[in-house]
Amino acid sequence: MNPYQSTIRNFCVISHIDHGKTTLTDRFLEATHTFPSSKYKERLLDSNPIEQERGITIKLAPVRMIYQAQNPNIEIRNKLQIQNSKEQNNLEFRASNFGFSNSEYILNLIDTPGHVDFSYEVSRSLAACEGAVLLVDAAQGIQAQTMANANLALENHLELIPVINKIDLPNLNLDSISQQLQATFGFTKKEILFVSAKTGTGVPELLEAVINRVPAPSGASGEVGLQALIFNSFYHSHHGVIAYVRLVNGRINHRQGLKFFSNQIIFKPINLGYFTPELKPVDSLTCGEVGFIATGLKDISLCRVGDTIVVSDDVSVKSLPGYQEPQPVVYLDFYPLENNDFIKLKNSLEKFRLTDSSLVCSPVNSSVLGSGFKIGFQGLLHAEIVQERLEREFDLELITTSPSVEYQLELKKKSQTISVFSPADWPDPALINQTSEPFINLTIFNPLKYLGGIMDLCQDHRAKLISQEFYGQQLKLTYFMPLQELISGFFDQLKSVSSGFASLNWQFAGFVPNQIVKLEVLLNRQIIEPLSVLTIRSAAQKLALKLVKKLKAVLPRQQFEVPIQVALGGQVLARETLKAYRKDVTAKLYGGDETRKMKLLEKQKKGKKRLKTFGRVALDQETFLAVIR
Ligand code: GDP
Ligand code: MG
Repeated sequence: MNPYQSTIRNFCVISHIDHGKTTLTDRFLEATHTFPSSKYKERLLDSNPIEQERGITIKLAPVRMIYQAQNPNIEIRNKLQIQNSKEQNNLEFRASNFGFSNSEYILNLIDTPGHVDFSYEVSRSLAACEGAVLLVDAAQGIQAQTMANANLALENHLELIPVINKIDLPNLNLDSISQQLQATFGFTKKEILFVSAKTGTGVPELLEAVINRVPAPSGASGEVGLQALIFNSFYHSHHGVIAYVRLVNGRINHRQGLKFFSNQIIFKPINLGYFTPELKPVDSLTCGEVGFIATGLKDISLCRVGDTIVVSDDVSVKSLPGYQEPQPVVYLDFYPLENNDFIKLKNSLEKFRLTDSSLVCSPVNSSVLGSGFKIGFQGLLHAEIVQERLEREFDLELITTSPSVEYQLELKKKSQTISVFSPADWPDPALINQTSEPFINLTIFNPLKYLGGIMDLCQDHRAKLISQEFYGQQLKLTYFMPLQELISGFFDQLKSVSSGFASLNWQFAGFVPNQIVKLEVLLNRQIIEPLSVLTIRSAAQKLALKLVKKLKAVLPRQQFEVPIQVALGGQVLARETLKAYRKDVTAKLYGGDETRKMKLLEKQKKGKKRLKTFGRVALDQETFLAVIR
């Protein structure tokens, strides 16, 4: 092992949202004099206002901190003194390069995205670390993402340092939280640290624990066998695509030809370095280090999180485990409010994708809403962030359809399987052998007293209880549930039945056969194709009744009476007759404030101008949105 390597600690902080990760990071930056935290915040603000406003950070640059150990590890010092001269030279080179002396440690703090929509990304960030600070709010105890992230960390063989935060708060029962941590993860009482990220109490002890408990990176720093794990990437206007990497084996210099393992794309690094968190160039990176490689490439989708960078002519080296292609789970159609803004939307999406390679886009056409894009997202929050950023950063006004999922259809002909995302692409039922819908494994953490409401809610959403386990006063429920149910307001309803105390986490589980059908809407006895919806057979009747009511409420008055019908395969399931006035519709994904609501109403005004006539019935955009949302 390179002696320098023994002074490196790669770690991250994992927690449930709001347990104090960002605040603790500030304390680390201060304690190591790395970067004034106010400046760090400014950068954050610059980089992504929406994430900052929502108090969620998608991901920060991994920051390198130089830490002066208070109890320098004597053993390591002795080892350093007996190195042979070649390694000693290398060490001196390192020392001059990084400005660290033997009693100093290099702490690489790697950020992980805080939201359940991004669990693959979390797992790859964890794979770049040897240890994790498991942060638990003293007033909340273990919550869903504490559990989910801790499990991901254990799967990646990380050393966990349990930390109870916010000990400055009044009326705490620290013993009970400590016992909860011991019972859940098998920590001993002595292992658990107590800090206040707000006041800084306990932070020096925590940094000492990181030095002493997190193992130094292993791996070989020789000239051959380079393996660099990509755990994030971004697009830089001068340097092109920049990969955030953890060198697992080998070394990199400027002269080497490199390639991405998954797609075999070759490039020569145009810059290398680490993050302060600004980009700090160096001549080479070696095993155990965390840094960046500027590739000069223009297409960020070539540089995938979880992929391995290897030397271009090295055919013997393998990829690192755990790589997955990005797989969107929720689909929304985005249309420009003004039809002639389509090119603007197209160009904006192209630029936007430079910052987010996980978006999957394809053009769509609606007879009412015009030309737009079907976009695949990692989850609802992801979709909401993208929409807001497109509107703010690219000055677009967008109409979005309600979130939908991918259905898999096995056709009778040659048992061919196809994916269908919208009613418009639904084939003739006579051609379909079997339909399947995506399911998830859902974990809910909640205090015992809300159990009844939560179980009822889950049952209403077709969820099947798999297991229940106690963690102190918290109960962990595991369900198998259709993804479609999760994206139909489940999160908001869960918050409401648990007074905000329940938290959830989920993972895609696979496709399960279930009878999916297409409902058709008839106005004045004519099928209005753009109003069709997909649903499961057992929910068809209820939905049909809901749809006719909704349509009756929002349809513009015509000069004659209009029968509204919803049919399944030619059979009418529900009927109303149009007589009433319209109502305003301000439905959206979840949450929301007054200004957004006003904006929606504004949009509707414009939408009403866009009338379409179907047979003798004139429809406005509002009507369509009322049905498809
Ligand atoms: P994150 O979501 O895990 O990054 O959590 P934040 O660092 O954003 O903290 C969430 C909230 O808890 C903020 O209002 C912080 O000011 C507060 N907070 C964080 N640490 C402490 C602490 O040690 N004591 C107290 N009283 N509040 C804290
Ligand atoms: Mg945070």
